[in-house]
Amino acid sequence: MGALLVNIGYFVAAIVFIYALKSMSHPSTARKGIHYAGLAMLLAVVITLFHPAITAHHYFTNLILIIIAVAIGAVIAKRSALKVAMTDMPQMIAIYNGVGGGAAAIIGAIALLQVGSPEAESTSSALFLAAIGGFIGAVSFTGSIVAWAKLDGRMNKTIRFKNRNAVNLFLLMFSLLLALLLASNAEPSYFMIFIFFVFTLALGALVAIPIGGADMPVIISLFNAFTGIAVAFEGIALDNGGLIIAGTTVGAAGTLLTVLMAKAMNRSLSNVLFSNFGEKSAEEAEIEGSMTETDAANAAMTMAYSDRVIIVPGYGLAAAQAQHKVAELVKILENRGVDVRFAIHPVAGRMPGHMNVLLAESGIPYESIFDLDEINDEFKDTDVVLVIGANDVVNPVARTDKSSPIYGMPILNADQAKQVFVIKRGQGSGFSGIENHLFYLDNTDMVYGDAQKVLNEMITTLKSL
Ligand code: NDP
Repeated sequence: MGALLVNIGYFVAAIVFIYALKSMSHPSTARKGIHYAGLAMLLAVVITLFHPAITAHHYFTNLILIIIAVAIGAVIAKRSALKVAMTDMPQMIAIYNGVGGGAAAIIGAIALLQVGSPEAESTSSALFLAAIGGFIGAVSFTGSIVAWAKLDGRMNKTIRFKNRNAVNLFLLMFSLLLALLLASNAEPSYFMIFIFFVFTLALGALVAIPIGGADMPVIISLFNAFTGIAVAFEGIALDNGGLIIAGTTVGAAGTLLTVLMAKAMNRSLSNVLFSNFGEKSAEEAEIEGSMTETDAANAAMTMAYSDRVIIVPGYGLAAAQAQHKVAELVKILENRGVDVRFAIHPVAGRMPGHMNVLLAESGIPYESIFDLDEINDEFKDTDVVLVIGANDVVNPVARTDKSSPIYGMPILNADQAKQVFVIKRGQGSGFSGIENHLFYLDNTDMVYGDAQKVLNEMITTLKSL
C-alpha cells in the first residue's frame, strides 16, 4: 500500500474518531460512540501495518514485533477492562494515559538515540520536535503514574516542599535547553539523553505529587492533553499522519476538558499549574451545630408527602452500586405525583460524567437530569433534597471558608432546601478529606447506612403506604 493510501486510511479513521467523540458527548449515544472509537482504532492499527516506515526495512521483523506487542496489549487491556470496577475507572484512565505518554517518550528517545546512525534521516527541527514530544510524554508518564497511585489509594500522603515552583521551573528550563542541545548536536551523548529523561520524568512526578484534595480531576485531564500533544509532536517528527491526527484530537479534547473541569472547580489554569493546588489548610473552620440522625422510613415518608424532591448523587452511589434502587425509588415517588429531579455536579463521582453514566444505566430519563447551572437556583423552592453518597459537591464551606481546599468551587445549593436527608455509611469524609458543614445544619438529617441498603428500606416504606 502506498503512502497516499495509508494517509487516506488515516484520514478515514480520523473522521470515524471525531464522529465517535461527538457521539460520546450525550449519554444516549455514548455507547455507540465507544463502538465507533474502537472501530477507528482498529482501522488505524491495521493501516499502520502497511505504513512505508514499516514496510521499507525489515518488514517481517517489524510485523512480528507489532503483532507480539498488540497481542500482549490486547490481553492486558481485556483482562483489566473486564475486571475494573466502575468506581476504579479514573485510575485505569490515568494509568493508560501514562502508558500513552511513556510510548511518546520512548519514540522521542529512539529518535535521539538514532542520531548519527546510518538509519537516521531526521532534520534538526524534526529532532527538536521529537525531543519536545519525548519531554511532554515523559512528564505525562510519571505525572499520570502519581495520579494513579493517589486515586488508587496507594499514595495517601500529599508531599509538599518549599520552593517547589522554583525547582519545577528550573527542571523545565533545563530540560528545554537540553532538548535544544540534543536536537542541534550531530552526535548527542547517551549521558545527555539519559539526564534529559531523568529531569523530565522527575518534573512530571514533582508536578503531581503535591496535588491533593478535590483537584485531581483537572490534573488528570491536563496530563491527558499532554499525552495527546506529545504524540502529535512525535507524529510530526516521524512524518506519520495517523499520530498527528490522533495526538491533536486527544490534545484538543484533553485541553477542552481541562478548561471545563478547571471552570467547574473555579480554578484558572495558572492556578492549577503554579499554586499549592488543592492545598489543605492546617485549621478547618469551626463547625456550628450538631449532626442529627433519622431513619430511612422517616425520610421516605417525608419525600412521599412532598411536592418537589431533588436527588444529589455522588461517589457513594457509585460505590454502593445503588443506581437501580434509585431508579425504583424515583418511579414510586413519581407515581405518587412527586416532582423528582437529579442535580449533577460536574465533578460528582470520580470521573467526568460519572453520575450521568450511572443514571443512564439505570434508565433514568435524561429530562430528569440537570446540570449545576440549570438547577442551582431551584433548591430554595424544594421540599426535600436527598443526598446519596455525595459530600464535597454539597459542602457549603466552598462558598464561605477561604482556607478550605475546595473554596471557590461552585457547589450544589442543597443547604437551601427546606429539608435535607444525607445517605452515607458513617462519619467518613469526601475525596477532599474535609468536614462537611451541611451535615450539621438544622435542616439536615443523616440517614446512616450503605446507599443500596438505605434505598431498599425507603422503597419498602413507600410500597407499604
Ligand atoms: P465525595 O468523595 O466527596 O464523598 C463521597 C461520600 O460517599 C463519602 O463521604 C462517603 O462517606 C460516602 N460513601 C462511600 N461509600 C458509600 C456507600 N457504599 N454508601 C453510602 N455512602 C457512601 O463524593 P462527591 O461525589 O460529592 O465528590 C466527588 C469528589 O471527588 C470531589 O472532591 C471531586 O473533586 C473528586 N474527584 C472527582 C473526579 C471527577 O472527575 N468527577 C475525579 C477525581 C476526584 P462514608 O464513608 O461515611 O460512607
